[in-house]
Amino acid sequence: MARGKVYLVGAGPGSPDLLTLRAKQLIDEAEVVLYDRLLNPSILEGVNAELIDVGKSAGRHSLTQEEINNLLIQKAEEGKIVVRLKGGDPYVFGRGGEEALSLRERGIPFELVPGVTSAIAAPELAGIPVTHRGISSSLTIVTGHEEPGKNSPLDWEAIARLGGTLVVLMGISRLEQNVSALIKGGKSPETLAAVVEKGGWPEQKLATGKLADIVSIAQKAEIKPPAILVVGDVVKLSEILAVKKIAILRPNGQLKESAELAESYGLKPICAPSIVLVERPLPMDLMQRVLDADCVAFTSANGVKLALKNETLRQCLATKIVVSIGPITGIALKSFGLSPEIPEEYSSEGLERMLKGRCKRVLFLRSAQGSQYLSKGLMEFGIFVDDIPLYDVHPSADPRLDKLIREAREIDIFAFTSTSTARFLVQRARELGLEVHLMDALRNATVAVIGQPTAKELERLGIRIDVMPNKFTFEAMLKTLRSYS
Ligand code: SAH
Repeated sequence: MARGKVYLVGAGPGSPDLLTLRAKQLIDEAEVVLYDRLLNPSILEGVNAELIDVGKSAGRHSLTQEEINNLLIQKAEEGKIVVRLKGGDPYVFGRGGEEALSLRERGIPFELVPGVTSAIAAPELAGIPVTHRGISSSLTIVTGHEEPGKNSPLDWEAIARLGGTLVVLMGISRLEQNVSALIKGGKSPETLAAVVEKGGWPEQKLATGKLADIVSIAQKAEIKPPAILVVGDVVKLSEILAVKKIAILRPNGQLKESAELAESYGLKPICAPSIVLVERPLPMDLMQRVLDADCVAFTSANGVKLALKNETLRQCLATKIVVSIGPITGIALKSFGLSPEIPEEYSSEGLERMLKGRCKRVLFLRSAQGSQYLSKGLMEFGIFVDDIPLYDVHPSADPRLDKLIREAREIDIFAFTSTSTARFLVQRARELGLEVHLMDALRNATVAVIGQPTAKELERLGIRIDVMPNKFTFEAMLKTLRSYS
């Protein structure tokens, strides 16, 4: 019978991007994969092998270590290529050594594939270098969850006396006992500490503080396993090096593009649409109203996309002055072959100056809830204004928004791109009974707005503003944020 082989493979801290090439290749070639609960399911997406969850899963107990060892042996003896996937590195608190010993004992061929261990990667991905010149020149990794009654218990007093960085894996369930053991052992309660949950996963969380307070800080941040505790002055660096999380509240159609843009500026986007756009049917007299106008103005790329689906309207616009309020709206219009004029200043004065002597009647094609400040100003200049609402802006019921509100304290930057994104965020928080919590998070975060009307709305809602770009685009806002600290 063909002889099987077992590969003990480290899967890294979570993201499939952090698998080694060898791990990826073996996962693709495997006939059987044994994995457990630390593994990010996306790593096994599309894998064409027998997948065996040996960890705890709903309604079923995890296999004992002995049962896992036996299963590895059994599958290998059936002649299979077996991959035993483990979070992080197999030999760092992963019981990989025990599996290797049992395979060796049975004479089953096996190979080790090291993985990126969470002990180093989780702090790293949260902006904490485990060693740093002038701050820490050693790293100690211990388990925070020792089996009771073990004959070589950890000497917390000795650990407390060590300088450098201490990383405690499996550190959450006994966080309180371990922290007090360290303090009792002589570690200064003023030492900096951090807990990192799910490092390398999309839902990664970081909470930092002094050792004396880290237990309550972790509780407040609702840190759950898998998470590690980091103790040492290197934690300070996370203030500068942690990737900042930016909340993007735009409607679904604009989320992906905005998230990619935020990523290209080195930020971590948290997408949580607070509004949805609901299209309105175009009025029967649309064409007549377009023909009557000298100028047709668009105020958003969404409006352009909805209106210009209509072929006749597109042709009709070729003979009109087409105005775009904002460069991105302009790009959308150009993509339909139109040549919009863009005022230098996005105010009724700017628009009037641009249109002077050329236009008696302007038609706005835009959101039903669009700000009226441009129309009002134009009417004061004696220009007749017509307005066709293309879509309504409604509050979204997206679960991502509720999650964002609950975890608002995690957010470093809130980016507001319209009055309605702000209004409906606050409204939803109120419905959830979390308005005070949200306002508190907003006070501690950086708040960016795209332009004046949104700034006014935030002022009305009692939210302080830190950043407003000169140009009226999401990207300009990201650029301005870059120079703000
Ligand atoms: N072999 C693994 C560690 C297994 S012990 C490794 O090398 O990473 C399990 C512990 O690892 C968890 O309790 C937690 O403390 C830590 N851990 C694993 N993955 C983690 C992650 N993505 N973020 C934070 N901690 C993690």
